[in-house]
Amino acid sequence: MTLDLDGEAVFPVRKEEAKIVSDGRKRRKYGKYRPRELRIKLYDRVMALRQLGLSYNKIRDVIKQEYGIELSTGQISQWVRGLHSPYNGRRIPSLELLEPSEDLAYVIGVVCGDGYVGTTRRDRKGYKQARIHLRAKDKEFVEEFAIRIGRVLNRPPHKPKILRSTGRYYYYTQVKSKTLYELLKKPVDLERLRKYIEHCDKCSAAFLRGFFDAEGGVLKDGSIYVVNSDYRLLKYVQSLLGRFKIATTDPNFLHQRGSIIHMNERQYIRRRDVYYIYVKQSCNMRFYKHIGFTIKRKQERLVNHLIRTGKLEY
Ligand SMILES: [Zn+2]
Repeated sequence: MTLDLDGEAVFPVRKEEAKIVSDGRKRRKYGKYRPRELRIKLYDRVMALRQLGLSYNKIRDVIKQEYGIELSTGQISQWVRGLHSPYNGRRIPSLELLEPSEDLAYVIGVVCGDGYVGTTRRDRKGYKQARIHLRAKDKEFVEEFAIRIGRVLNRPPHKPKILRSTGRYYYYTQVKSKTLYELLKKPVDLERLRKYIEHCDKCSAAFLRGFFDAEGGVLKDGSIYVVNSDYRLLKYVQSLLGRFKIATTDPNFLHQRGSIIHMNERQYIRRRDVYYIYVKQSCNMRFYKHIGFTIKRKQERLVNHLIRTGKLEY
């Protein structure tokens, strides 16, 4: 639970965008560059018109009518023949382009938990970079996160790195994305995330799985729990689980702010309140069916408990 982010990032305007936002003269000079959202809209419309069997000339006329923009037939032909597309090299989709998906919902779940977003190093030009990181003990978890975030951003996943510190080791992955950073920066804006999390049952389940992978676990007696410092978020998770008819306890204090922890032979003062909720044991089977864990040791513990209590066969 390394959370929190202080300070806002200042993002540089990329060269390409600078041309667009500058004055009209320059814009004409660099007439080819339109905002990506607009180019994508035009592209989608062109492809749809082509599907209807319109000629390049006819498509050009329709676009001119609808958008007041004159595309060259060369441009249209390149799009239609798949030589270029405004989607190409879309390393960073803008927030408007981010589609709800199970992958995105899972990523949101993880970042609401252990994953953290932040700006770290500055690049050569001194700009802050927006990154999403995940550091965790379980390889399959970090891999899953890297794969899913790769699919969301339409780029190949980073291979998790191994980090060693004070005799322990962790797996670590990070991606640079201004868009995801804006969406996921802490404290999380639940209102904004809702449409992705609640898109459908599959998305809700993926969100919960990510959250429980990051922050949850199974005790020896088979109790499934999840921990977080954000009371509101736990209430939300509780209500979301309720949609799958999985009942939990209300959030309760695990640690209070100001209490002392001993770690690595040192003392630390907790900076935040920490809360937990438990899944009612009678709902463990439903949790297994609808949510589950990606992390093997957690999933095994859950399965073993279900077998022991006769709810699941070998
Ligand atoms: Zn969905």
